[in-house]
Formats: sequence, C-alpha cells, structure tokens
Amino acid sequence: MLSFFLVILMIKIGAHMPISYGFEKVPQMTVDSGGNTFQIFPHSPRTWRASLPSKKVAEEFQVQMKKYEIPFEAVFCHCGYLINLASPKDDIWHKSVELLITEGKICHLLGIPYLNVHPGSHTGAGEEEGMNRIVKALNEFLKTVPTVTVLLENVSPKGGNIGYTMEQLAQIINVVDQPSRIAVTYDTCHGFDAGYDITSKEGVERLLDEMEKSFGLWRVKMIHLNDSKAPLGKPLDRHENIGKGYIGDKGFRNFLSFEQIQNIPWVLETPNEEDLYTKEIAHVKSLIGLI
Ligand code: MN
Ligand code: MN
Ligand code: ZN
Repeated sequence: MLSFFLVILMIKIGAHMPISYGFEKVPQMTVDSGGNTFQIFPHSPRTWRASLPSKKVAEEFQVQMKKYEIPFEAVFCHCGYLINLASPKDDIWHKSVELLITEGKICHLLGIPYLNVHPGSHTGAGEEEGMNRIVKALNEFLKTVPTVTVLLENVSPKGGNIGYTMEQLAQIINVVDQPSRIAVTYDTCHGFDAGYDITSKEGVERLLDEMEKSFGLWRVKMIHLNDSKAPLGKPLDRHENIGKGYIGDKGFRNFLSFEQIQNIPWVLETPNEEDLYTKEIAHVKSLIGLI
C-alpha cells in the first residue's frame, strides 16, 4: 500500500502542449489535462524564425508555474523541425546551430532546463561525417548557452537519421566538450522502429541494460510515450495513441511497470490535441493502476 502511494506522488506525466495561447497558458493547460509536466516548442517549429520572449511574458510564465505548482526541474522544450545538426551543407548547418542557440536562450529566459534535440540526419554523407557535424554543433551550443542541458532524442532509423541506438547516442556524448550537459530522451515509438521491443519483460531489461552500459541510466531525463502505427523494426516514425498501436496497452503496462521507468517523466506526443491529452493521460494512469 505504501509503495502504491509513493508511486502516485512520484509519477511525472504530461504531454506536448501547444504554445498558440502563449507560454503563460501552458502550466494551467497542463494541470487541466491531468498532467504535472509538459513539453513545448520554443517557437513555431516549422520555421527558421524564433524570437525571445519579452520580460513580461517570461515573468508571467514563471508566476503561472508557481501557481500551478509545476517544478521547473522537469519541464522540457523540443527543438524545431528544420534544424539538422548533422547536415553536410554548410548553410543549413550554420542556420541550424544559430536557431538551436536561440532556442536555448528561450529556454533560459523561461527557466526551462532541458532542450530536447534530434541529433540529425547525414542525408547521404555517411554516419561518421554526420556524427562529427553533430559534435561540432553541440560544442558550439554548450559554449554559448551555459544554463541549458541538451537531451539527445533517440530517433527512427530512417532518412539518414543518426542516434537510433543507445550506443550511437553514447558515441556523441563521449566526445563532446561538456558531456555532463548532454542527457537523453527515450522515445518509445522511435525505439520500437529501431527494434527495441518493450512489450516483453526481457526486452525492457535489455534496453535498460543497454542504456546503463552506454551512457548511464541516470542520463535519461524524459520518456516520449508514443505507441507505434508500425510493427517492431519497421522505421516509419508514425506515432499512435497509447493502446492503439503495435506496442499496445499490454506492452505499455509492461514497460511502465518498471521502477526505473517510473522515475523518469513521461511525455505524450501522440496525435491527440483536441482535448489536450486529457483522456490519454487518464488512460496511461489507468494502465499502472493510478486511477
Ligand atoms: Mn522529437
Ligand atoms: Mn519523440
Ligand atoms: Zn517521431
């Protein structure tokens, strides 16, 4: 019984929240949806444009965070989609680094400690070359934005993407200038695409083991909770609502029952903006017996 109540107190769950109503509305939307953490884009994600929030907006955001009792230590920004830190094209690479730095500054002004980043796609130039570009870009970021930690997200192994295995993420972490400021996000859909089968106990144990050996489990700061429209090992990157895809309720019940997983915040990125994830957050809670 005691452990049951501890779980209730500990679990951090939320979803990707829209910023179209303003940053300052996000804490309230989070709590209204049944969450206690969130992820947001720092700007409109399909453009190269990003502007810093005014002092007034940043202050109001912080007031709302306090009002809705959401701790800053576990909230997240997700980088824009145009950024490609592995791009072999110099102009794209420079624009990407510049935008990432602006995103980091937005995080800093809002007080958000983590910026979730896709390592990047080598677009045909090869993984080694791509990896070198990523490391160079991250070093530039770490030097310029001293207060924000980068979360490298595991990606789907398609389109020249780098970072679809734990080992590849470790290869990046091991050679950056400030490895203590690079952490990890595990996306369950992308992982399923790459062959990580979290539907069985052994599969989750294997994954946890691989994380521990590659970069240390302590480094995993967020779980992107997405079911998959594609079967295991098929890299389509199609997010599905929890329970409706190939991982399924049974698979998630298994995955989410691990204490190591319960200690990490869960953030939904499923196709579900209409009710701001209210039903789906409740559904995930029901899977582990919280409601
Ligand atoms: Mn992502
Ligand atoms: Mn994701
Ligand atoms: Zn995805």
